[in-house]
Amino acid sequence: MLAKYFVDLHIHIGSTLENHPVKITASRKLNLINIIEECVHRKGIDIIGIVDCASPRVLKDLDSLIEKGDLFEFKGGGLSYREQLTILPGVEVESCEANGGRGHYLSFFPTLSQVKEYSRFLSAYIKNINLSTQQSYLTAQQLGETTNQLGGIFSPAHAFTPHKSLFGSCGDSLESVFSDYASKLKILELGLSSDSQMADTIADLNKLTFISNSDAHSLEKIGREYNIFELEEPSFSGVKQVLYQEKGKIVANYGLDPKLGKYHRNFCDRCKNILNTTVPVDRCPQCSSQQIIKGVYDRLKEIGDLKSVSPENRPPYYYQIPLAFLPNVGPKTIKKLIDNLGTEMEVLHKIDFLDIKDLVGAKVANTIEMARKGQMVISPGGGGFYGKITASERGNYYI
Ligand SMILES: [Zn+2]
Ligand SMILES: [Zn+2]
Repeated sequence: MLAKYFVDLHIHIGSTLENHPVKITASRKLNLINIIEECVHRKGIDIIGIVDCASPRVLKDLDSLIEKGDLFEFKGGGLSYREQLTILPGVEVESCEANGGRGHYLSFFPTLSQVKEYSRFLSAYIKNINLSTQQSYLTAQQLGETTNQLGGIFSPAHAFTPHKSLFGSCGDSLESVFSDYASKLKILELGLSSDSQMADTIADLNKLTFISNSDAHSLEKIGREYNIFELEEPSFSGVKQVLYQEKGKIVANYGLDPKLGKYHRNFCDRCKNILNTTVPVDRCPQCSSQQIIKGVYDRLKEIGDLKSVSPENRPPYYYQIPLAFLPNVGPKTIKKLIDNLGTEMEVLHKIDFLDIKDLVGAKVANTIEMARKGQMVISPGGGGFYGKITASERGNYYI
């Protein structure tokens, strides 16, 4: 029988259980046990991808949970934590293309022994295999082919962001980057600054499955983007069948309004302004500099085709604003909401307005309600800075 699952396939590890760093820029609280706790008890996520599993230190943590009996491997692949959460062991790596471009790519594997094999393979092309998302001397095509040979699932990560991505820094089309592998690619991660509709302006991508994941560098950010999958068994093969459009389906993608993403619009690296112009520009209108960090919106206007629209089977993409982004909603209020009413997903999407109002007052309840209805006014992000909620359409506050 098919059931619905909340899925977030891009979560980093900040530190191991023995407190060794893995993703240097991530929060040190982001360790395996805390991630599990956050997903099961606070966020209500059912299936996650942990993308730093090539690190022997992370593999050791996973092995220790298996020894304790807290984690076991499903027959269809994937790890189950006490049948409450599925963990797909994954790896994010940086490619190096012949043109000098570098992009991030995700691989997920059914079992730890396959991840270990991928880790051994990568360690010949990477300086420090213990750390996250390292630069490799491999092309995206080599990463994809190797992942497939090991029975894994492969996807470009945050495919349009300016510095390290398929379309942001490697090339203009799937063929130009992947050559023969282009026809084997099935999946693409949208990233925080885009949505399905924007990505579908590249006609080549219409046949791919889009995933929306958090790329969480801290516990709070887990689930800021996620997918709802309908599948039979929450194992690696169940997830793969959905991603390959064989069985089950993605019911919906949930993500930030792309305007809130850190790379939505062009950014002038000289005068540090977000270039929120009606049409994309190559020169800063304020200081004339051409040192522009390209926004995803602007990049897609450049390489996309305005006539290309989403295919009919594309799942709906719903915008959500995580509680931590909302004005009037501080950490104490978030804790109170989650301790009393349910997980963050439930608070964001399901819990009755009056229940929220009774618990934390009308101001917070109104804010959550306006976010649900898409009534927030957002000043777009760019150049590594998140977009901001500047007002609501009801106009009753500013932050
Ligand atoms: Zn990345
Ligand atoms: Zn400027």
